[in-house]
Amino acid sequence: MTDPKPRKSRKRPPRQEHTLHGESVSPGIATGPAAIVRESPMPTLAERTSSLGTDAERARFEDAIARSLHQLEKLQRKLDTLPEEGRVEIGSLLAIYQRMLGQSRLTRAIRAKIDSHALRAEAAVLDETEALARTAEAAPTNTPEEEEAARRRAGEFREIGRRVLRNLTGVSFRAFSAVPPGSILVAEQLRPADAALIDPGKIRAVLTEAGGSSDHTAIMLRALDIPAILAVPTLLDRVTDGDTLIVDANDTDDGTITIHPASETLCRAKLIATEQAKTRQGEKRLRRLPAKLTSGELIDLQANVELPAELPAIKRAGAAGIGLMRTEFLLGNDETMPGENAQRTIYAEFIEAMAGNPTTIRVLDWGGEKGRERLAQLGMAHTTEGENPALGLRGLRLLLRHPHILETQFAAILRAAIAGSVRVLLPMVTSAHEIIQARDLYERTARRLRRKGVALPEALPPLGIMVETPAAALTADTLAQHADFLALGTNDLTMYTLAVDRASAEVAPLYTPLHPAVLRLIGTTANAAMRTQRPISVCGEMAADPRAVALLIGLGLRSFSMSASAIPRVKKMVRALSLEQCAQLRRQVMLETDPAELRTLIRNFKPD
Ligand code: PEP
Ligand code: MG
Repeated sequence: MTDPKPRKSRKRPPRQEHTLHGESVSPGIATGPAAIVRESPMPTLAERTSSLGTDAERARFEDAIARSLHQLEKLQRKLDTLPEEGRVEIGSLLAIYQRMLGQSRLTRAIRAKIDSHALRAEAAVLDETEALARTAEAAPTNTPEEEEAARRRAGEFREIGRRVLRNLTGVSFRAFSAVPPGSILVAEQLRPADAALIDPGKIRAVLTEAGGSSDHTAIMLRALDIPAILAVPTLLDRVTDGDTLIVDANDTDDGTITIHPASETLCRAKLIATEQAKTRQGEKRLRRLPAKLTSGELIDLQANVELPAELPAIKRAGAAGIGLMRTEFLLGNDETMPGENAQRTIYAEFIEAMAGNPTTIRVLDWGGEKGRERLAQLGMAHTTEGENPALGLRGLRLLLRHPHILETQFAAILRAAIAGSVRVLLPMVTSAHEIIQARDLYERTARRLRRKGVALPEALPPLGIMVETPAAALTADTLAQHADFLALGTNDLTMYTLAVDRASAEVAPLYTPLHPAVLRLIGTTANAAMRTQRPISVCGEMAADPRAVALLIGLGLRSFSMSASAIPRVKKMVRALSLEQCAQLRRQVMLETDPAELRTLIRNFKPD
């Protein structure tokens, strides 16, 4: 159904080392053959004739064209960040795509086909792009260069066809299981649910044409500790299955992909990779040492988790517990939604593996970009629609609208809680009545289970809240009256405070928690937790940045949860810091009002 697919052997121009650039979202360096995983060819259309009528099909087609053009414009805007040479070459390719979607032979033929044959838009797009691709392939060629050009042209028609079809149907399917072990996965786009399917033992690195550093796909890849570069324009036109690649995602500003590296370049990259593996080994030695400031205070370093596959890494990193379990990924990839028993088994596996250390289970944070497939399956796709899904029915709001889902999850967690130390976390809280309603359901669920004779812990697991909206941060003292603990979600807090979409490549340079507005909200929340004597932790990506952690300690925070792979480097920083240094950093930073200067202050911070 999907690539990697066998390719016809063909003469190609000599392979020369060249590079592509994108956004490093998960650090590391890797070498290996490319395995291209494309969206599957669209399913064969059982029904080619439209039941909606010609006008409706034309409208669907125009909408898909508009979306496709919008996506290409986004890519075009990214070109500004590329070196001159790449900008010219890639810019012209995007221009070809845009021309194809304008008043071209292709779009005219598709419209005509919809009109004259009463076809569904999908059928017309498929027929026409494939016909043009075949014509391009069949054109007579005399040289390998001409053959390559014809192949490219055919590829361009198919690529544009796939883009329009995807926008028409929203369907995508890929089989990662077909990727040979040791490969570098190359795809146009990777959704969070796709990333969750990747086996970190099998795939050395991930490259995609779309995406951004703070979306959930990036978080997943960091969590899985897979070097990754996203937002690489025209990646799929430049890389062929089996090409040898070097993926260098160590520079956070500029990820570099070397295609067909010369043997010396490849040797050098392999040496660096070995060196890094050694450094990581050294970090692992930190595992048994306490996360203690030089002034004696203990800092709690826990792990964020999305999948059972991460448990070995969590153990290796010496995490003091799971500070955030994102259940939306755990429950999102099976054929059907796991019921109470199946969920209980999943949670119990983590709780038991933590051997007495706490496991903080967050109930489903669906909505926004998360859980689309599952919501569609449950007939709730409308929740992710609308102009601003991140501001719509998401997290706890969605669960309170569908309490049976929340009740099942509460019941499963409560039953699993007998296996160890558990905390329950509510996502996307904005006001006290949401917590009151959730707690009411939580306690009713516990009473119902007890009546049925189910063994539950004597004291119910603490019920806490994510502070990840400005509303929650500003009223943290009020909310804390109803919550047993607070967890600062700096990813969403940054997005909602700065009005910058965390998943958008276009505004990625504006997205940073190191902004005075975000830091003040963090400070307000930390003070509220202190005044109300509620435990508080930080579980956004900020907690994985050692220098930011120094500042957060200065702001009064003592508990952090992050990708397991970040724990050693954060611990190393913690062990080099004194409380006074952190306080001094806080004093300097909180006086700074310019975001750029503020970031420089933090970037230049070094413990004594
Ligand atoms: C956050 O928003 O910071 C957070 C930890 O939650 P998520 O990244 O899952 O939205
Ligand atoms: Mg969040």
